[in-house]
Amino acid sequence: MHARLLRWYRLARRDMPWRRRVSPYRTWVSEIMLQQTTAASVAAKYERFLRRFPDLSALATATEDEVLERWAGLGYYRRARNLRRAALEVMSRHGGTFPSDFDAVLALPGIGRYTAGAILSIAFRRPYPVVDGNVIRVFSRLFGLRGRAKDPAFIKRIWSLAATLVPKKDPGDWNQALMELGATVCTPGSPSCGVCPVANVCVAHKKELQDRLPTPEKRREVIAVRWVCFWILRNEKILIWRRSQKERLLKDLWGLPEARQIAAVPGRRLAAVSHAITHHALSVELREAAWPEGRKLPQEARWVSAKKATGYLVSSLWLKLLKAASAGVG
Ligand code: SF4
Repeated sequence: MHARLLRWYRLARRDMPWRRRVSPYRTWVSEIMLQQTTAASVAAKYERFLRRFPDLSALATATEDEVLERWAGLGYYRRARNLRRAALEVMSRHGGTFPSDFDAVLALPGIGRYTAGAILSIAFRRPYPVVDGNVIRVFSRLFGLRGRAKDPAFIKRIWSLAATLVPKKDPGDWNQALMELGATVCTPGSPSCGVCPVANVCVAHKKELQDRLPTPEKRREVIAVRWVCFWILRNEKILIWRRSQKERLLKDLWGLPEARQIAAVPGRRLAAVSHAITHHALSVELREAAWPEGRKLPQEARWVSAKKATGYLVSSLWLKLLKAASAGVG
């Protein structure tokens, strides 16, 4: 199974920028980006991020807003903040060299067991396993294991199995091969068993249990959210708003002020868009509004030039809304 899967991976793997040149820093950045974002979206942003922050010290000396700006469109912005915090820790605690000890890597902000295993196996060639949704699905089907992919006891079982199977030679390729198989062949809906390199030993394939392994999850209920946001211009500057830590969505990020946050009189509608963030379905309307002369600016608000605004409005929701407004979609 190992030989077949590794051979397949070396021939069939997708060409991704983080696979072209490997280093602890490059692998770490890619793994953090890939945590909750698709490989295709990460591929589009990865090189741009690395051009701006080519190494740990460039990342550690950047401001949080600069890092968030280059993270724009990847979502889950806490990852970007943790990335910068971890870079600062590597500079101060490890003399600027990314640690190769599992516990030291695990102790860095934003790094869990999966990411530590990925960095150590791929960049340091150490035999640590990784388990993500793809690995859970592949092992569940391959070995005919029943369980829900989000059940902690089932996940623990898969981790134990992964630890016994990770080879001493090329552990990084093995881990990536499992994840690649899950992402491109052993997919959730309709696995392509006909081209699978390990179909000959797969229990689910033999017993035709592919759609029942792992046990399907109940669908999470979608929450509808409606926002009315304001486009407030003064002296060719736009009013932006720092969302609080307590917000349900896009917390602690810059955005356009919402009607519930700011006392302004709504005017003409400029645009309306739909946008999904996790299991929230947002309907967002953008309206012109005026800022009364002489009124003091709340602490959360700031005027920025139109050119600089996109550096602050990093969520793809704002970019979508501004694009719709400039195209006159309302
Ligand atoms: S044979 Fe099918 S179900 Fe089994 S691992 Fe391959 S793709 Fe997945």
